[in-house]
Amino acid sequence: MSDVSRRGFMQAASVAAAAMGAVSAKAGVAVAPAAGKIKVISSSNGAEATRKAYEMIAVGSDPLDAVVAGVAIVEDDPNDTSVGYGGLPNERGIVELDAAVMHGPTHHAGAVASLQNIRHPAQVALQVLRRSDHVLLVGAGALDFARAHGFQEENLLTEHSRKIWLRWKETMSEKDDWLPDPNEKEPGVAAFFEKNTILSSDGSRLRFRRPTGTIHCSGINAAGDISCTTTTSGLAFKIPGRVGDSPIIGAGLYCDNEVGSCGSTGRGEANLQNLCSFAGVELMRQGASPEEAGMEILNRVVKTTETRLRDQDGRPDFGLNFYLIAKDGRHAGVTLWGPEKYSITDENGTRLEECRALFTKPKG
Ligand code: ASP
Repeated sequence: MSDVSRRGFMQAASVAAAAMGAVSAKAGVAVAPAAGKIKVISSSNGAEATRKAYEMIAVGSDPLDAVVAGVAIVEDDPNDTSVGYGGLPNERGIVELDAAVMHGPTHHAGAVASLQNIRHPAQVALQVLRRSDHVLLVGAGALDFARAHGFQEENLLTEHSRKIWLRWKETMSEKDDWLPDPNEKEPGVAAFFEKNTILSSDGSRLRFRRPTGTIHCSGINAAGDISCTTTTSGLAFKIPGRVGDSPIIGAGLYCDNEVGSCGSTGRGEANLQNLCSFAGVELMRQGASPEEAGMEILNRVVKTTETRLRDQDGRPDFGLNFYLIAKDGRHAGVTLWGPEKYSITDENGTRLEECRALFTKPKG
């Protein structure tokens, strides 16, 4: 780093430090981490994505093209009901997707929200970045833009997702006219409801827990150039038009080519209220390690969680995860509720590593 750019870095770091306050004993001394080797990280559902992105970066692809190609594998997967094709729909049974991309070297971003009928929203977000003067397109405008760029429309609701949605709708209330099929046989549907239903002590249904999902993926090449993407079908059975954290730059993802990258999965509303990915990167800029930065943003979420979303011990009753990577390749996954894993591909291959957890779910 030249003296001039080093001075710029230190000035930016001290402005950020002053704005955000000290975070740990190590914080306050900004050190620009040196670039290391190729690394790609993602949420736990992204092992194929990190592998693909790593292979592409290894042969010279831009990390942004690589992570977008990686997450396309998950967007295509009908068995992942939190992303792309086969994603769980909104409360009216329509799949609405959110996605964003961010390119470290240019600090440019692109995003789409509430996009219907296009299975690769991260690719549309990439076109927003490259082929428009805008950062975020939503709804009908995003769909028009996707069509203009040759994306094909299709129904993204699989039979499996439709049946899960229909059962949710039919069992939400006893006061409406929708009745569940007593002969419902599809094992995946029953298992889905079993997993996500919280029972009271007498065995009756207390509450249905909305499943979360999403894929975030960040990649760094040997020169230390960083890019990232987050893509999702969002909160299952959401109010139509609801936009989560995933397509919001600074919330669902953020990267700074001098520092590192951060992205999220889990309850978007909690992240949106704290802009955690931006905060995570700024904390790393101040000197926090990826894990320290991740734990600090989780603690901020805990502090700002409203009472109705806390359990009897005062802890947030929802899931939220962050995936952080520093320019020098140090990385971490952090989670409100462990156990939870994240995927990493580097020179040692592809594997799942444990996220550092703030709280641990009771077994069983
Ligand atoms: N973060 C996503 C959202 O709030 C959902 C998720 O990760 O499950 O839309």
